[in-house]
Amino acid sequence: MCKGMSTLVCAKCNSVFGEVAPEYRCENCGVAGSLEYKVDYKSIGKVSFSGDFTFWRYRDLLPSVKNFVSLHEGGTPLYRAERLAKHIRLSRLYLKDETRNPTNSFRDRAAALMVSKMLDLGYAAAICASSGNMGASLAAYCAKYGISCHIVIPRHVDVGKLAQMIIYDAAVEEYGETVDESIKRAMRISEETGWYQATSAINPLTIEAQKTIAFEIFEQIGVPDVVIVPMGSGGTIYSIWKGFLELNDLGIIREKPRLIGVQSSGCSPIVNAYLGREEIIEKPMTRATSILMVNPLRRDLALKAIRESGGLAVAVSDHEILEAEQEMARMEGLFAEPASSATIAALKRLLNESVIGVNESVVCLITGSGLKATDVLKAMSRKRKMILVEADLSTKEKILRIIAGKETYGYEIWKMLGKTMTKAAVYQHLNELKSKDLISVRIKNGRKYFTITEKGKKVLKAIEEVKVLLS
Ligand SMILES: [Zn+2]
Repeated sequence: MCKGMSTLVCAKCNSVFGEVAPEYRCENCGVAGSLEYKVDYKSIGKVSFSGDFTFWRYRDLLPSVKNFVSLHEGGTPLYRAERLAKHIRLSRLYLKDETRNPTNSFRDRAAALMVSKMLDLGYAAAICASSGNMGASLAAYCAKYGISCHIVIPRHVDVGKLAQMIIYDAAVEEYGETVDESIKRAMRISEETGWYQATSAINPLTIEAQKTIAFEIFEQIGVPDVVIVPMGSGGTIYSIWKGFLELNDLGIIREKPRLIGVQSSGCSPIVNAYLGREEIIEKPMTRATSILMVNPLRRDLALKAIRESGGLAVAVSDHEILEAEQEMARMEGLFAEPASSATIAALKRLLNESVIGVNESVVCLITGSGLKATDVLKAMSRKRKMILVEADLSTKEKILRIIAGKETYGYEIWKMLGKTMTKAAVYQHLNELKSKDLISVRIKNGRKYFTITEKGKKVLKAIEEVKVLLS
């Protein structure tokens, strides 16, 4: 169990929530995504980072959970990028390689913490709006822990990420041009179904999970002069800032880095806000789909991180991003997704403008793998995606319905399914339903009889609700 805090504070109305806290929406002012965990450093006492160099090493500074879910996330390498540094004329460049997480992006940290919380609270289903990485992460962690995972994606999503969601058996729905609209849809669904709301831009656990990246950087090289971070909702840059702030408040460090936030010039609302520019983004578009968000929900927090740290916000073109992507791959053997490559593009620009000095130490946050963002899987049609979603709901749902109708046994179920599959397959499904506590079994006259559980009834009800929603 973590020593850590469980106090949530609403940034909009200053309400404070203790033990029984809302998960993402303030119960007083009703705003979604305004909640943030606050640490009482006095109650924490002396903090020690112990155990393996992985995410849970920092459990003392995370919101308290009882289940520690893991696919071995975190503990990612921080490479000294010597060839690339020489090429761009900088003395010390480091790449924080978050592609080395289990699903190849930094979001695995947030997924680990959220699924831990879901297990603590007994959730059987989760919903998440995502432009890719968070959906892929959540799908994997939900698969591992037997939670039903539903993801709403916008029209432009990297195919590699979509492939991950599908292979990890999540139900995927496409809704909206950009993730802004997908988030609204996911919020409606969670309110109507009661599923756990795992959208990274509104769930307060995201920032807590991601601040561990700052802890790791500190343990790996101390405090760098500059950290460059891609910005979509703005939550990630604030996470990094919060990590360094906490180390400072705990008396572990004295200096803090300047934080530089990067967006694509195809969609740069946080940069516009930083520059005091009023600009309506008419056709938001960039190859860096993971940072494509028109109304960044964590904009104010991002600006706070940038201003308090003495940093700045900058937009780079897709052309600069592609060039940086190739340089990083060719000189450092690291294939980063466009949003991450944008940090190198920004660094080059700021070195040219002497905003960053040649002798400063710079860390670029490489959030996700380039393999997720290639077009190699384009052949996978959208039709196939929808068929998979339907298949996901088919056989187990039918079996559950039969058992919900009356207590019955395997052979009878096999007959009622029209003898379309082997008896072994029916028993396999029954075992899986039982392992998820959706059905229970008792022996009567030497025969196994199956009954639906309360959890099974809830799942059936949820399936019905989502079918109504999707129709
Ligand atoms: Zn509030």
